[in-house]
Amino acid sequence: MRRENGPTGETSRHNVAKKRRANARVKRHRLRYIQRMPSADARLVAIVEDEGTIREAIVSALAKEGYLVESFGDGMSAWEAFARRLPDLAILDIGVPRIDGLEICRRLRTVSNTIPIIFVTSREEEFDRVLGLELGADDYLCKPFSMRELMARVKVLFRRASLPAVADRADDEQPAKVGDLMLDPLRLIATWKDVPVPLTVTEFLLLQSLARRPGIVKTREQLMQETYPDAVSVTDRTIDSHVKRIRRKFESVDQSFAALESVYGAGYRYVGPGE
Ligand code: CA
Repeated sequence: MRRENGPTGETSRHNVAKKRRANARVKRHRLRYIQRMPSADARLVAIVEDEGTIREAIVSALAKEGYLVESFGDGMSAWEAFARRLPDLAILDIGVPRIDGLEICRRLRTVSNTIPIIFVTSREEEFDRVLGLELGADDYLCKPFSMRELMARVKVLFRRASLPAVADRADDEQPAKVGDLMLDPLRLIATWKDVPVPLTVTEFLLLQSLARRPGIVKTREQLMQETYPDAVSVTDRTIDSHVKRIRRKFESVDQSFAALESVYGAGYRYVGPGE
């Protein structure tokens, strides 16, 4: 007579359970290990900086935050690497050999309007040059700066850049139409008379802050707060430069664009339809 649940059957069931427990242990161990490593979809931050000590300091600060980091001491090697894989954010020193930071920024902007770009520079005067050139960088930092400040800015820029990935946004994140302007905050896309106008994240947020309340004047201070939510220090000039760039971009789509109005001594306002 055959026994259904003989000693052999129980032993094998016992073994199976034992194996399962062992597998679970291995899995838990592996999970702990992976959590300590940057995850496969960790953001890639590129640094182009020819001063070794600053470069190393930035690299280790970023790595500590869990970012994947690649660093370059000159512009040429950076650009060659970007041709293979674009970084998710770039930190550019202006004065680097072979291809300078300004040119790298210009080139990056020809392939992507949304990669956040932070300029670092050793001279305050260089900002005038950067702003004057209107390269579409998102942020500027003057040396010496603290790693904490740089990390804060990196975080803010990534948070803004990741807005499209967030599925459940509030009503005010729905596409909004103001006359000929359409703003889609989920995808960070702006169109004018149905023609897409490529904007950087900063430009988008600034325009959105004005266009949401047509006719209302916003001071540069207010615009700074809404465009740089973590209160990083930007100057009035930065806002002016962004506005100028936004205007130029819309004018290249429609020469008669005049919706972004300067209000002397006060700030800016978005001129609504029918005004
Ligand atoms: Ca340098």
